[in-house]
Amino acid sequence: MGFMDSLKGIAGKVGDTVEKGVKTGSDGYKKMAEKSRLKKEIAQAEAAVQNAYVEIGKKFAAENPENEAYKEFFDAITEKTAEIEKLNAQLFELEDKITCKNCGAALDKNSKFCAKCGEKVEIPEVPAEDVEVVDEEAAPETEEKAEEAAEETSETEAE
Ligand SMILES: [Zn+2]
Repeated sequence: MGFMDSLKGIAGKVGDTVEKGVKTGSDGYKKMAEKSRLKKEIAQAEAAVQNAYVEIGKKFAAENPENEAYKEFFDAITEKTAEIEKLNAQLFELEDKITCKNCGAALDKNSKFCAKCGEKVEIPEVPAEDVEVVDEEAAPETEEKAEEAAEETSETEAE
């Protein structure tokens, strides 16, 4: 058997193996796709059930705000809602975002109007004090450096 023949032989064997792999792979793929389709449908149905329970809860809470038997849940909602607002405010600061004072929507720091409700955005002004403090600190330092530089220059000239 020549060199080219043995190469063809190897190529043939590799081809067989690849073909077998593709066949089992395609069966496996069908199964996988079917499994993921079923999982998706199950998740959607479960979400619909959860959502129905949430809606029942909201309706009940709105209709029975003073219900003592569910007080712990109402308290948790009040407490956690306040916590969410606080955390959101912290997050927005890191993301350079602001909240609309009218509807609470998250907006880009540079927005002029709320994208959700159209409310004009009032940009919080930078306190004038902060700017002045920076100037006061920067100015003497610059003067000192200028003096030092002047001294150095005169020393060099004297030599
Ligand atoms: Zn708004």
